[in-house]
Amino acid sequence: MLARNLETILSAIQDFEKKYHRDIGTTKLIAVSKGQPIEKIQAIFAAGQRDFAENYLQEALPKMEQLKALSINWHFIGAIQANKTKLIAENFSWVHSVSREKIAQRLQEQRPKNLPPLNICIEVNVSDESQKSGAKIHEVEALAKIIQNFDRLALRGLMTIIEDTTDFNQQCRQFKKLAELKNDLNAKGFSLDQLSMGMSQDYEAAISAGATMIRIGTALFGERQ
Ligand SMILES: *Cc1c(COP(=O)(O)O)cnc(C)c1O
Repeated sequence: MLARNLETILSAIQDFEKKYHRDIGTTKLIAVSKGQPIEKIQAIFAAGQRDFAENYLQEALPKMEQLKALSINWHFIGAIQANKTKLIAENFSWVHSVSREKIAQRLQEQRPKNLPPLNICIEVNVSDESQKSGAKIHEVEALAKIIQNFDRLALRGLMTIIEDTTDFNQQCRQFKKLAELKNDLNAKGFSLDQLSMGMSQDYEAAISAGATMIRIGTALFGERQ
């Protein structure tokens, strides 16, 4: 069943790439395994998936330890408390949820020298909802400049979680804001190559707007525990 879910999502991704005139294979699936048991992660890995994401460090570390024999690329996508940055810097290849200078500074200092630079996406609050995490659009350039100068971090792109809506056009409008922000930054000399956007209920809109990484949990694994 999980292998079939994976196959269904991978073929939907390809269909949407064609439908929206994207190059085939330019949208990577990130399997969001928060709230999911080890056995399901193993099954999806066995079916060929290599990129997995977790939100909560206390949950992620024991699972990663149990799965350490598998060559998984681990992505951290959750809220980051300053006292957790060391373990994130030591254990993940990607962090999608950086939105403050202080957190970037700590990841820079704590990324082990024997590992390649930690791949970073800046999380942006494009819908400007007050309760939501992420940098405001007008704050992103300054933060990007700071991260760009950190040799232990590789600034790769932008991430967002849009407003919870099933309206396709509204989804597209918000994803386009993130795509435009990436283009604006690249016009100013940055070289961002990633847009981490789209979840189970809105990944078609995200692909239409240029997502390069979509983060799918429930549509792949089923409901979380
Ligand atoms: C949980 C989560 C997802 C996956 O959500 P689904 O709706 O289960 O696909 C994606 N991104 C982030 C940041 C999440 O916290």
